[in-house]
Amino acid sequence: MSMDGCIFCRIVQGDVPAREVFRDDTAVAFLDLSPKSPGHTLVVPTTHTENLTSEPAGLALMADAVTTVARTITDRLGASGVTAQINSGAAAGQEVFHLHVHLIPRYQPGQSPRGGPDEVLTQLLGS
Ligand code: 5GP
Ligand code: ZN
Repeated sequence: MSMDGCIFCRIVQGDVPAREVFRDDTAVAFLDLSPKSPGHTLVVPTTHTENLTSEPAGLALMADAVTTVARTITDRLGASGVTAQINSGAAAGQEVFHLHVHLIPRYQPGQSPRGGPDEVLTQLLGS
């Protein structure tokens, strides 16, 4: 289900462009527009749900995608680790009210991939 006016629902539906990293039936992953590090990716359930405590529950829908994308970030971007973060509720810093997991690559000094988001996406897609 999608919700009118939700930017992440529009990305899921392909109505708003995004640098898509991964998609399956229950989740979509795309690069964050304001990355905290190169390759910062958001994973969202394809079904609209606001946050961790709202209905329908969404966390399990993203589990496989989170694992796959975290592996891709380490394998293809050379990250040494990945921070996974969910801001659930305005008080937790949530700004977009469609549940999402931030996957923020962590690099050793000097090991960040070069180039902008298009180059990073190419690397992530392995093409
Ligand atoms: P929150 O604070 O809700 O956990 O994080 C929302 C994230 O969504 C922010 O990191 C922000 O940069 C990102 N974001 C907001 N609007 C868009 C958009 O239209 N496209 C993409 N790719 N990222 C967005
Ligand atoms: Zn939505």
